[in-house]
Amino acid sequence: AKKSGRNTFRSYRKGMDELIEKRRALEADIERGLERGEFELYLQPRVSALDALIVGYEALVRWKHPERGMVQPGDFIPVAEVSGKIIELGEWVQIEACRLATGFPEHLHISVNVSPVQFRHPQFLERIEAILDASEVSPHQLELEITESVLIDDDQRARLILGHLKTLGLRIALDDFGTGYSSLSYLSRYPFDVIKIDRSFVSALGTEETADAIVRTIIDLGSGLGMRVVAEGVETLDQARYLSVAGCDELQGYLLGRPQPVDSIASEVSAEIVS
Ligand code: C2E
Ligand code: CA
Ligand code: CA
Ligand code: CA
Repeated sequence: AKKSGRNTFRSYRKGMDELIEKRRALEADIERGLERGEFELYLQPRVSALDALIVGYEALVRWKHPERGMVQPGDFIPVAEVSGKIIELGEWVQIEACRLATGFPEHLHISVNVSPVQFRHPQFLERIEAILDASEVSPHQLELEITESVLIDDDQRARLILGHLKTLGLRIALDDFGTGYSSLSYLSRYPFDVIKIDRSFVSALGTEETADAIVRTIIDLGSGLGMRVVAEGVETLDQARYLSVAGCDELQGYLLGRPQPVDSIASEVSAEIVS
């Protein structure tokens, strides 16, 4: 038994070593990828629930890896967060989003996801200010999507930072609403412009009564507090109808449009410029 225990430990160590090695390699690879311009922002439209017109886009990062092909964020964001590379990558995302938004008509915004690791960084605010300063973007065209986890860490700091971001003119969205601790008091204590109902509730619409009730409650709550309510992961017409009747302001999801490379939406945007 002892022997097999030792073997188990040895294979555990070996497994761990391999994991660590893999992670190191991926870290170095992210660094190289940034240097060589392998990252790209895809844009997914957000549309008004009233008339289905595009009101903005969410920027979703993709990695065009020379050997592995297109790598999805779920496969590198977590490693980038653990290693700290997310700071550099996140700044690249912000700079690129500002650059894209600068070419957009005034009424269209771009939202970017902010990792909790970025938000916790002591220079988070300074760096964003520097990026805005260096860009021509109108701050109101840039929206930052944050998740609840940053609010529970350090309430005081979070409130200061969000307040400051607002004075810069940025819009703030609370992403994945309903999945975390979702303390109702968050909504009144922080200056959110937007709440995004998590996809899990949207996909359960029509199949689970509780989902219908939760979605309606979030919409009423957000609207009552003067926030725009956005539903994520809208895939069917039934969902879209339910959400707009319930008073949801904006819809996002495969039904309205998948995340696409910038080139392929450029024509849509220029069509909007013309119209
Ligand atoms: P998220 O912020 O909740 O983004 C929405 C995710 O849902 C995206 O996945 C999007 O492609 C997907 N999605 C949109 N509509 C639908 C739909 O109708 N059905 C389904 N099944 N999925 C839909 P993606 O692009 O793979 O991104 C996954 C997550 O990675 C994001 O979740 C976000 O947390 C993170 N992420 C993506 N880009 C960035 C980034 O630039 N920075 C940071 N920190 N995180 C990012
Ligand atoms: Ca502008
Ligand atoms: Ca998001
Ligand atoms: Ca989300």
